[in-house]
Parts: sequence; C-alpha cells; structure tokens
Amino acid sequence: MKKLNLVIVLIGLVTIAVKSNANATISGSKTTLIDSAKKVLVDPVCKMKVKAGASKTTVYNKVIYNFCSESCKQKFVAEPTKYVKK
Ligand SMILES: [Zn+2]
Repeated sequence: MKKLNLVIVLIGLVTIAVKSNANATISGSKTTLIDSAKKVLVDPVCKMKVKAGASKTTVYNKVIYNFCSESCKQKFVAEPTKYVKK
C-alpha cells in the first residue's frame, strides 16, 4: 500500500506543478504584452532611445531594428555590419 500512496502523492505534485506552470504562462504573456507596449529600444546608429512600433524600422538577420529618423535607417541599411554586434 505504501507504493500506492507514493503514486497518489506524485500525481498530486504533478497536478500542482502543471497548474502553477499554466498560471506562470498566463501571467508571463500578460507581462510580455505590457512590456512590448512600453518597450524602449535603442537606435543602433545614433544610440538614441526609440519607442517600439516606430515607423522607421528595418529587418536584418531576422531582427527588427528601430530608428529615430530615415537618415539613421539609411546609414544602417548601407552598412548593417558596422552597427550590429556579432
Ligand atoms: Zn538615430
């Protein structure tokens, strides 16, 4: 009977773990949404802070880069390797 008790305890622990994971995922995604709305990114060219969702963006190596102005974007597009840290 000891074995059966152990199994019941294990099932209980797994259930608790799954529940807490589910909660963590839900609160985690909420946090991400708030974070991305408030996120401040750095213009890789002039190091100015740029709000996420700005209109001046470009994609390089599957990463979206945000720029303060069209001229910064043009500099980056011309020489992306100069501004992207490897
Ligand atoms: Zn800039």
